[in-house]
Amino acid sequence: MHIAVLGAGSMGHGIAQVSAMAGHDVVLRDIEAEFVEDGLEGIRDNLQGGVDRDKLTEEAMDATLERIEGTTDLEAAVEDADLVVEAVPEDMDLKKDVFVDVEEATDTDTLIASNTSSLSVTEMASVLAHPERVIGLHFFNPPHIMDLVEIIVAEQTDERTEQIAVDYVQGIDKEDVVVRDTAGFATSRLGLVTGLEAIRMVESGVASPADIDKAMKLGYGYPMGPIELGDHVGLDVRLHIAEHLRKELGERFTPPQSLRRKVRAGNLGKKTGEGYYIWEDGERVDTSGNWGGPDE
Ligand code: NAD
Repeated sequence: MHIAVLGAGSMGHGIAQVSAMAGHDVVLRDIEAEFVEDGLEGIRDNLQGGVDRDKLTEEAMDATLERIEGTTDLEAAVEDADLVVEAVPEDMDLKKDVFVDVEEATDTDTLIASNTSSLSVTEMASVLAHPERVIGLHFFNPPHIMDLVEIIVAEQTDERTEQIAVDYVQGIDKEDVVVRDTAGFATSRLGLVTGLEAIRMVESGVASPADIDKAMKLGYGYPMGPIELGDHVGLDVRLHIAEHLRKELGERFTPPQSLRRKVRAGNLGKKTGEGYYIWEDGERVDTSGNWGGPDE
């Protein structure tokens, strides 16, 4: 297939990479040449890492890179595409604008997919004349490592679109789950329940962040504890999704006070060096974690 990926950031470059590794021709588009170049650089680094660890041959790396082209030109990126995957920032108005622009530059049988982690795919599709070709393809970070893609079926999605999406996901060697378009889908909704409750338990003095994380890792087989995962994803991202789920699903998603405080203070987790834990060079360096002062 010809695939266009819009947005060359954390997710977009990974989606381009896994698509090209499976033999698809890919165009990666961002709004500035330097963002495109950063994305391509990220792909080269990931692939080189695979070669260094003997997971990939030099030939496979070169063939993958040959299948990926970068551009800042939207029309050139999407005009021949069978599938367009948008991975632009999590903003409904921006995503709707991108969808409208893509519709203008493509045939009606081109699939248009969103990598949103929480927004309504049905609402995005509603701005199009042909919304039946819209679907959610929710990849996980980083896409070249994580096996799951959550396929989100919008109210308007037709069977052809769903079938092509399932075939694409299976063809890039990922596992799919198909969910109806509801707030938080399956993954963000359940992940947030555990993440917010874990923070509330820290606030009420049940245990330290590190002990709560350890309990879930060793007791329940989680690969990463729920509080550390929040630091990893970004506390601003977690807060944003919690606010959205509270509006859509009710008070049980009310963000804990310490989460709001940390975001207000700019302590967003791994990316800023401090969240519920202290981080240096992307590694967690404190052993217990902190909850950041008394609650209101
Ligand atoms: P990011 O900020 O790393 O990358 C977004 C990129 O989109 C930037 O390079 C930006 O320049 C570019 N962009 C902005 N407007 C554009 C446009 N009109 N056309 C093309 N490119 C444009 O963001 P991200 O973390 O990769 O997230 C992208 C999407 O993926 C969001 O919807 C997010 O919710 C979702 N998502 C993120 C994660 C994650 O862990 N980061 C996981 C799953 C899903």
